[in-house]
Amino acid sequence: MSTEEPWRDPERYKTGKLASCLGCKRSCRKTHWGAWCYDCNIERIERINKTFESLMETSK
Ligand SMILES: [Zn+2]
Repeated sequence: MSTEEPWRDPERYKTGKLASCLGCKRSCRKTHWGAWCYDCNIERIERINKTFESLMETSK
């Protein structure tokens, strides 16, 4: 874990306008990443990162 991963910081999910999460539909705050709650956003970004890594692997 590093500071390169700001989405892992729960404090970042406590500001912003109230919205409903695009994933689980619970109420959350609209963050820098969009209307995603902490759990959904981490899952989403990890999935994106894995996809990105596998793309990098295949292009080697
Ligand atoms: Zn959610």
